[in-house]
Amino acid sequence: MRRDQQIALLDGVPAFAEHLHVGRPNIGDRAKFLALVGDLLDRRWLTNDGPLVKELERRIADLADVKHCVAMCNATVALEIAIRALELRGEVIVPSYTFVATAHALQRQEITPVFADIDPRTHTIDPGAIERLITPRTTGVIGVHVWGRPCDTAAIEAIADRRGLRVMYDAAHALGCSHRGRMIGGFGACEVFSFHATKFLNSFEGGAVVTSDDALAVKLRLMRNFGFAGYDRVIYLGTNGKMTEICAAMGLTSLDAIDELVGVNRRNYDAYRAELWGLPGISLIGYDHAERHNYQYVVVEVDPDVAALSRDELVLVLHADNVLARKYFWPGCHRMEPYRSLQPNAGLLLPHTERVAPRVLLLPTGQAITPEIVGTVCGIIRSALARAAAVRQVLAERGASERPGAAMPDP
Ligand SMILES: *Cc1c(COP(=O)(O)O)cnc(C)c1O
Repeated sequence: MRRDQQIALLDGVPAFAEHLHVGRPNIGDRAKFLALVGDLLDRRWLTNDGPLVKELERRIADLADVKHCVAMCNATVALEIAIRALELRGEVIVPSYTFVATAHALQRQEITPVFADIDPRTHTIDPGAIERLITPRTTGVIGVHVWGRPCDTAAIEAIADRRGLRVMYDAAHALGCSHRGRMIGGFGACEVFSFHATKFLNSFEGGAVVTSDDALAVKLRLMRNFGFAGYDRVIYLGTNGKMTEICAAMGLTSLDAIDELVGVNRRNYDAYRAELWGLPGISLIGYDHAERHNYQYVVVEVDPDVAALSRDELVLVLHADNVLARKYFWPGCHRMEPYRSLQPNAGLLLPHTERVAPRVLLLPTGQAITPEIVGTVCGIIRSALARAAAVRQVLAERGASERPGAAMPDP
C-alpha cells in the first residue's frame, strides 16, 4: 500500500498498475458501430464517397455551421489538399508551436513554412508577428487553434485582407468549439479538422476540410480523388485523400457520443483545476466558458522560476507512476527536421515559443479518467513538489545522460 505523499520515483511503488495515456481513444456505442459495419459489408460499398461518409459530412457541416464538409483519410492529407486547392505557394506563415504536420503539409509541396511566434497567453499565432514576416513571396497564413482555443481570427484576417493573403486554419483540436458565438469551421477560406484516434472525435484515422465556399468545396472533392472530374478525365493534381466507410462508421458513432464526451472532459478539467489550484508556479490553461468547448486538453504550464520542479522533472516523476504526461508541442517545429537544418536561425524570432514550449505539460483526460484518478495524479504532483529536493537528487544520480534539462537541444 502507498502511504500519503509517496511517489514511485522515490518510493518505488507506482500509483497506477497500467499506463494512463494522454489522448487514449474515446469509444462510443459499440453496438451502434458494429451495426453500421454490418450494413456497410452488406452493401459492399467500402470507400469512394459512400453513404456513411456522406452522412458524416452532413453532420460535421451542421455541427461546424458551414455549407460543406469534405471528409478525408486524415488531417495531414486534408491540410495538403486544402493548401493546394487554395493555390498557396512560395511562403506561408504558420506558428512553430503546433503539431509538425502543419509545417510538413507545406514543406512536402515545396512551400516554405515561415514560423511566426505565439501569444504566450493563448498559445496561438501572434497576429503582430505575422505582419513582420510578410515578404513578396508570402501567399497565405495558416492559423492553428491550439488546444481548441481560437486564434485571433479578426486580427489575422484584417492583416491578410490588407496584404492580399489567403487564410486557412488548422482546427485539428477545435471540433465543437466556438469563437465569439460562431462555430469554428467557418473562419478563413477553410478549416481542417482531425478525427485521429487521439482527438476529441475519432474515426480511427480521419479528417475533413470544411468551408462555405461552393467552388472551393468542388475543387477539394476532386483533389481528394486524384483530380478526377468524371470517368477518364483528370483536371487537377490530386491525391488519394478519401475516407473509408468503416472510418465514417466510427466517426458517426463518436458523433453520437460527443455531448457525453464534453461532459466527461469538463468534469475532469474542473477536477484538475480544483486539485491544482494555488500550487506555486503551476497553472492550468483556461477556457472561455461563455463559448462552446470540447475540453479535450488538460494543459499545465510549469513556471521554472517559481515551481519547485521543472516541467521535465515533473514529467519524469509522473512517468515513474505510469502517468504518461506529454510535452506537446515540444520543442516546436523549428527545432525539428528538416526545419532546424533549413532555417537554423528561426528561433531568434520566436522568443515566446522558446519560452512556452519547455513549460507545457499535458495530463490524461477522457473516458478512461475519473475524478478519483485526477485526485491521485494531482496528489503525485503535490507530493513531488513538496519533496522537490529529494526528487532532484534521485534524478541527478541517474546521471548526466538521462538528466532532464530545462535546456533544449541546440538547433
Ligand atoms: C493531430 C494534428 C494534426 C494531424 O492530424 P492527423 O489526422 O493525425 O493527420 C494536424 N495538426 C494538429 C494541430 C494536430 O494536433
